[in-house]
Amino acid sequence: MTQQKPKIAFFDFASCEGCQLTVIDSLQTNLELLNAVEIVNFREAMSEKGQDYQIAFIEGSCSRKSDEARLQAIREQADIVVALGACAHLGGVNAVRNRQPLEDVRTYVYGNKADWYETYPARPISQVITVDATIPGCPIDRDEFIASVKMLLQGRIPKLPETPLCVECKLLENQCVYTMGKVCLGPIVRAGCKAICPSFGDGCEGCRGLVSEPNMESLKQVMAEHGMADQDISHKLDLFLTYQMMNLENEEPK
Ligand code: SF4
Ligand code: SF4
Ligand code: SF4
Repeated sequence: MTQQKPKIAFFDFASCEGCQLTVIDSLQTNLELLNAVEIVNFREAMSEKGQDYQIAFIEGSCSRKSDEARLQAIREQADIVVALGACAHLGGVNAVRNRQPLEDVRTYVYGNKADWYETYPARPISQVITVDATIPGCPIDRDEFIASVKMLLQGRIPKLPETPLCVECKLLENQCVYTMGKVCLGPIVRAGCKAICPSFGDGCEGCRGLVSEPNMESLKQVMAEHGMADQDISHKLDLFLTYQMMNLENEEPK
């Protein structure tokens, strides 16, 4: 008797679809893994729309009330739900707008057609449904995606590292970008990306999200000592971390 392959599906919400592109790219060079699964739904890569799947990968943030029902339907079908990338994991860059009055943002983007488009404050999918695993980053890291899928196929749930990026960066013997006159969110951001931005001489922007107990005050002090004004520090933290920062500050979306 032929053993059935695990059925997996990919879904997108508010996103740039860059994480799905990374998935396609990763699978093209991991054909054994591709052959070990049956992909039944992946709008960016195929036209079939199978609704029978065990593992669902979800890219994108929830940014409309009507997204919630679609997320819940995926949750009901899938045994395992995986948040794919910073938009799904953190609300991502979509959540930058949460600090602005929603009507102002809608009018800025859509002008006098604003009423045509449904929207509400962007949020991570974990605020709507239970998420079993996360593959962070903007975009996701290819190796981490492949390793995570292998673990899921073995019945294991991948866990995110708890260490801050600085640990990974130091192990790679990088020169700290603060010594080059740049700023970096590494002390408060979750490791696991091989410290790729500092490895190429740029500061971390925070796309993998905060560690569970970030020392925000200490980081802000370091950034201020390196010449950043309070508003610049806030903007730096808001690129990927608006949703998390507003939670830490007990601030409601406008
Ligand atoms: S996490 Fe980044 S690359 Fe992935 S969908 Fe969102 S914006 Fe695009
Ligand atoms: S470059 Fe960034 S991640 Fe690396 S040690 Fe400095 S602050 Fe930490
Ligand atoms: S260094 Fe920071 S911004 Fe760059 S990929 Fe890693 S977590 Fe994301």
